[in-house]
Amino acid sequence: MISETLFQNHTVFSFEVFPPKRSAPIDTIYRTLDGLRGLRPDFISVTYGAAGSQNSTSTVALAAAIQNRFGMESVAHLPCLYLSKAQALETTDQLLEHGVQNILVLRGDKVPELPPQGDFPHAANLIAFLHSSRLHLLAACYPEVHPEAESAESDLQHLKEKTDAGANHLISQLFLDNACFYRFVRRARAAGITAPIEAGIMPVINRKQILHMTSLCGAALPEKFTVMMDKYGDNPEAMRDAGIAYAVDQIVDLVSHGVDGIHLYTMNNPLVARKISEATATLFH
Ligand code: FAD
Repeated sequence: MISETLFQNHTVFSFEVFPPKRSAPIDTIYRTLDGLRGLRPDFISVTYGAAGSQNSTSTVALAAAIQNRFGMESVAHLPCLYLSKAQALETTDQLLEHGVQNILVLRGDKVPELPPQGDFPHAANLIAFLHSSRLHLLAACYPEVHPEAESAESDLQHLKEKTDAGANHLISQLFLDNACFYRFVRRARAAGITAPIEAGIMPVINRKQILHMTSLCGAALPEKFTVMMDKYGDNPEAMRDAGIAYAVDQIVDLVSHGVDGIHLYTMNNPLVARKISEATATLFH
């Protein structure tokens, strides 16, 4: 289980991966994990597809493999909007059987044609339901405000409800402008949220991917970033190098400002994760 002391005198460095498509051979993700293992992350989290696109089996299996086969701490994502109490307990029991005690509790995105039919309308409800000493519960936060929030203030209040309910570790949505993150952390601390906040960094290695992601989550595109995309967007290799340099630049600035941790959205690309880790390795202690 992730120790409560992980953040003491230490800037956390963690990765996110997603389960392979059902049709993909399992070896592909094992090769990815092999590549990531050498980079010695503090933990690796495993996403869980939105309702209907994936069942819990692949997330549980991958989180278990990270923990047991690869010997790294793993975190299983668990969205709750379509989850019953019985399914939540079944999934956590399976995770615990495999020694996975860390759960990133999420509401999950709404599927337009599927009305929510679970027992947990918000992440805070599942956090309160699961809260126990056997589990380390994490939650998501949004430096640029969750797109469905009534206001920035209510979003922060609902984040506080998640930490009050038992989430003691936060991971942020991706952002490209560090100033937004610093403003958010100041507001969160002023609101009485004391849990460590890891900054979510997504290396942008192609134009289509980032435009899709930012349209979904509403992250602002700083001018420095759009200039870079305009110049290199049609040249995949140059775009990859520029995207890696941009992420490294963000990380150097964040660590210099004393961020609690960096959570790298690896997109299952160990080469990109390696380049970023190598460029920043001595910053983490
Ligand atoms: P919540 O905390 O429940 O908040 C959702 C919205 O409801 C917010 O606008 C909030 O302000 C509002 N709200 C909260 N409580 C209340 C209340 N009591 N009354 C009224 N409004 C309220 N999705 C997946 O499907 N699978 C994943 O693996 C996954 N991984 C993610 C990892 C990270 C680090 C992040 C940042 C997001 C991830 N997501 C994932 C996306 C996430 O599920 C969506 O952003 C989702 O829309 C919100 O999830 P949440 O847990 O933040 O929701």
